Amino acid sequence: MLDCIFCKIINKEIPGDILYEDNDMMAFKDVNPQAPVHFLVVPKKHIENIMALSEGDYELLEKIFKRINLLAKELGIADNGFRIVNNCNQDGGQTVMHLHFHVLGGRFMQWPPG
Ligand code: C5P
Repeated sequence: MLDCIFCKIINKEIPGDILYEDNDMMAFKDVNPQAPVHFLVVPKKHIENIMALSEGDYELLEKIFKRINLLAKELGIADNGFRIVNNCNQDGGQTVMHLHFHVLGGRFMQWPPG
């Protein structure tokens, strides 16, 4: 998508601090980290949010969650724990309209979120 900032990172038109990449997804550090470890995992396919998923897209979620499991171990946040966040649309606080999962760790997470 032309005006999507995450598509631009995926297409290497703008730089991202990339942690992982394959044909289906990319994981990169959040530019405005809210925890010592804060990265985003995004499908390469432009999908606005979980409400825009088509039937054939759900296998992407399986791959993304498997990768989050591996990255959490690699980045040393698996043992103490971490939080996965998906903001969906306006009331969910979504600001970038390209499906993404935040992974936050390295500190204790408060509940409930704001
Ligand atoms: O869930 P939400 O849409 O609010 O999150 C977007 C996230 O994308 C923010 O945490 C923001 O810091 C991050 N971002 C980024 N790199 C950009 C633009 C936004 O990591 N170039």
